[in-house]
Amino acid sequence: MNVPEPRPVRLRRTSIWVSAGLVAALVAPLAAQSRKAASANMATPPAAAAAATASESVDYDAMYRIKEEATTHSALMQTFSYLTDVTGPRLTNSPGMYAAAEWAKKQLTDWGLSNVHFEKWGPFGRGWENQKFSAMMTAPQPFILQGYPKAWTPGTNGPVTADVVLATLNTPEDLEKAKGTLKGKIVLLTPAPTPAFPTTSGRPAPSPGNPSFEPLIHRYTESDLADLQKESVRPLDLARFRGAFGPAATEFRKKRQAFLIQEGAVAILEGSRGEGNGVIFVQGAQTGEDMRQADAPQVLPQIVLASEHYGRLQRILEKKTPVSVELNVQNRFTTDSLDSINVIAEIPGTDKKDEVVMIGAHFDSWQAGTGATDNGISSAVMMEVMRIIKQTGLKPRRTIRMGLWTGEEQGLLGSRAYVTEHFADRTKMDLKPEHSKLSVYLNMDNGGGTFRGIYLQGNAAASSIFQTWAKPFESFGMTMQTIRNTGGTDHLSFDAVGLPGFQFVQDPLDYDTRTHHTNLDLYERIFPEDVIKNAIVIATFAYEAANRDQMFPRKPVPKPQPDQTPGGTPAPTRPTTTSSR
Ligand SMILES: [Zn+2]
Repeated sequence: MNVPEPRPVRLRRTSIWVSAGLVAALVAPLAAQSRKAASANMATPPAAAAAATASESVDYDAMYRIKEEATTHSALMQTFSYLTDVTGPRLTNSPGMYAAAEWAKKQLTDWGLSNVHFEKWGPFGRGWENQKFSAMMTAPQPFILQGYPKAWTPGTNGPVTADVVLATLNTPEDLEKAKGTLKGKIVLLTPAPTPAFPTTSGRPAPSPGNPSFEPLIHRYTESDLADLQKESVRPLDLARFRGAFGPAATEFRKKRQAFLIQEGAVAILEGSRGEGNGVIFVQGAQTGEDMRQADAPQVLPQIVLASEHYGRLQRILEKKTPVSVELNVQNRFTTDSLDSINVIAEIPGTDKKDEVVMIGAHFDSWQAGTGATDNGISSAVMMEVMRIIKQTGLKPRRTIRMGLWTGEEQGLLGSRAYVTEHFADRTKMDLKPEHSKLSVYLNMDNGGGTFRGIYLQGNAAASSIFQTWAKPFESFGMTMQTIRNTGGTDHLSFDAVGLPGFQFVQDPLDYDTRTHHTNLDLYERIFPEDVIKNAIVIATFAYEAANRDQMFPRKPVPKPQPDQTPGGTPAPTRPTTTSSR
């Protein structure tokens, strides 16, 4: 899941009518009741009212066959292991991502799916991979340092041993003061304070010295779920985000990199955010530059260390005791393709084959683990859903299409490009013919926890439909729906052009505490029972959507939203829930 680089947000039209939806959600009974009663209580938008009046039903026969296939012949964990252990991590445009995409394409074809292909989008920029890494404190004592290079940073040109200096470089005055002191040094760069993203529990994120006394892993309790059903309208602290990510901060980051290069520093070390426990949070470097571009200015090698290891170096230096570190980092930029690809596969429909139900997940990951919970498992679940439906021999009336998106971590780029190409450009909102043919898009990207419900994304008209479809899955723990929006992933690309796009409420497990964008995002963090359930739910929902008499109800088409950001990164949507990111 992508944590959008926070930047100023305009409240969008959807937010206004989410409030209307809130009223509906609070008065509408949550357990499935007669559809008539539910629709009477809901503030259904006029555009959607007609579509929602069809009486909903569940095809229990299909559901049984889906469950049977998903449990007795599950290929899910095998698929997942290939996408993570064998070919991962899948940083966009890296060799791992392409290997995983080729493997997925072949597997989907072998399963007999139709129209399996890569759909090019771009430009994205260079790929990147780490090929070798070692870091060791060599004085005052030998000590292995645990760390990972940040994506799209250069390596060290072979082993280099250098003295380490503490340099807090957060202001132009700091740079001035540090002049002449950094030549040949490895710099411990105390990072500028980063905004603490809310954890699933809503508690502030723990940090070194502020440990959490809560368990690292949890499922939603009934009371958590009840809270999630309440609308929460919490404005972003825009001033704070502007401070950390606004143009002035970006300019300063550029200046700092140029300064460090000019002064002849060797590398930058940072401590991981979070409280430690072996969890190292690593993404790309925030240098103020778009490092994916081939002509990006030179920057230093940058490594994130375990916070305890960073802390040890820092504490020794504070005692005026010299520290030296040996680094050997080999990173490679790849330029074979500056465009990227989404992976597409279909099960053709029958009498309504021109209409489409889409399911999808982002395929790319960050680089320190293998992108297991974010988002290899969801890609594997979507592939498994396609396999299951195909294998059961069920004949969906509408075409079911799967999209596995890349570039999500850099701002939902792949799904947004797909939506622009096929449905509408959010900045212009001139609707393409396919816009009227997409019924619904279902997305998964919140780790490996089992589904507990669905975010209605403000689309109250969808409530009675999901209530009916989810009823048989109460035994899985899928008992709620919430009118809330959730953000940070690819359903937003569809939502932004007025297409119904949904994301599920999932048990957070240890996504926020251990795996999200960390070195521990590995196969072992996924529990088969949770994700097999998710595959059953998505397969059933996709099949029901494909066979429903009418298309899915929609929210009003939004106004064009001028692209506010350079580099095509979508502006974040309005504040979302406390759900895991
Ligand atoms: Zn992510």
